[in-house]
Amino acid sequence: MPQTIYLDHAATTPVAPEVLTAMLPYYTEMWGNPSSIHRAGRQAADGMDEARAQVAGLLNALPKEIVFTSGGTEADNLAIFGTAMTKADAGRHIITSAIEHHAVSHACEALRRRGWEITTLPVNGAGLVDPDDVRAAIRPDTVLVTIMHANNEVGVIQPIADIGAICREAGVWFHTDAVQTVGHIPTPVNELNVDMLSLSGHKLYGPKGVGALYVRRGVRLVPQIYGGGHERNLRSGTENVPGIVGLGAAAVLAQQEMVSEATRQAALRDKLLDGLVERIPDLFVTGHRTQRLPNNASIITKYIEGEAQLLRLDAVGIAASSGSACTSGSLDPSHVLLAMGIPVEFAHGSLRFTLGRGTTEAEIDYVLEQLPPIVEGLRAMSPFKPGADVCCGGLCASSDHSG
Ligand code: PLP
Repeated sequence: MPQTIYLDHAATTPVAPEVLTAMLPYYTEMWGNPSSIHRAGRQAADGMDEARAQVAGLLNALPKEIVFTSGGTEADNLAIFGTAMTKADAGRHIITSAIEHHAVSHACEALRRRGWEITTLPVNGAGLVDPDDVRAAIRPDTVLVTIMHANNEVGVIQPIADIGAICREAGVWFHTDAVQTVGHIPTPVNELNVDMLSLSGHKLYGPKGVGALYVRRGVRLVPQIYGGGHERNLRSGTENVPGIVGLGAAAVLAQQEMVSEATRQAALRDKLLDGLVERIPDLFVTGHRTQRLPNNASIITKYIEGEAQLLRLDAVGIAASSGSACTSGSLDPSHVLLAMGIPVEFAHGSLRFTLGRGTTEAEIDYVLEQLPPIVEGLRAMSPFKPGADVCCGGLCASSDHSG
């Protein structure tokens, strides 16, 4: 298999050819400013209007409930800070989960430093939040619950509709980071009972640097970027018209392909997971086995490190990712895996394969052929064996990985 086998679609997806085709005229011909009155401006504004309707269509929302942003991170920040500012006099308590993306958890942390109280709910061993925990955590001063739809590392899909129903009953706004789900599984906002939902273009075969926040009619947010009053005053700044048009085209494509792709990818994912479990001893699947994204195969191989496996996979043309970030002397295992109760020494052995539209069965067969000898080779060199006192592959002396 000479070419790169790209199995890192949770990190980013390629721009679909149809999306690029839709975008190009907005660079070469219809490059006007959508705020301009003249024809060039109107053409750009029309392109944006169409894209807004297309994105709304994917969510079963109204076009005017879509606010375009620079991506998922900004959408998350607008939802969290926007709510906190709007509701500052009503209460300063926010509920979130222990497995959120940093775009949510760091935003909550910033609010905590400014005096807000943040309740961080645990997840069980399968990575699921218990809706009853949400109910129990809601207080009179709770103004927001923010819990992700599906996790980017282990792919676990949360019971968002149930959590949303609890929030609605309590009169608390509910935001979900759906960056990993929009375009991959159905995300009808009314059925999910959400007030706000974040999405990102580059996770659904659209361009990078564009995303959106769905804001339910009646939810008023304080803007976080001030200027000329674009996006109905919620997000000022001349719009990224080609990116927005691309996001719209990606939404249309996703609607056409979602069901068939989810079925196809889930079958390949299961083949990969079953095959790896069968071929490699001391390997386990992380996250709920069925309540997970159709394209997510995340695993832990005990006694060796994820990064070492990634480098060897890369050398044989396979692009995957690892849950743990190993940077400049600090070894921080994934907060998601730790929250799921996975021991720190095993969390270092995590690997994530995320499939996409281009993934073939031959590619999965190739991974099944390549990974077992890689694991065997690394284990042969590893001082850590079943029953041994395991830590960070010998790189760290204690189990305190905070530094
Ligand atoms: N939320 C989740 C769950 C993600 O996976 C990501 C990206 O990895 C983001 C938010 C951030 O999105 P963006 O890259 O568009 O800023």
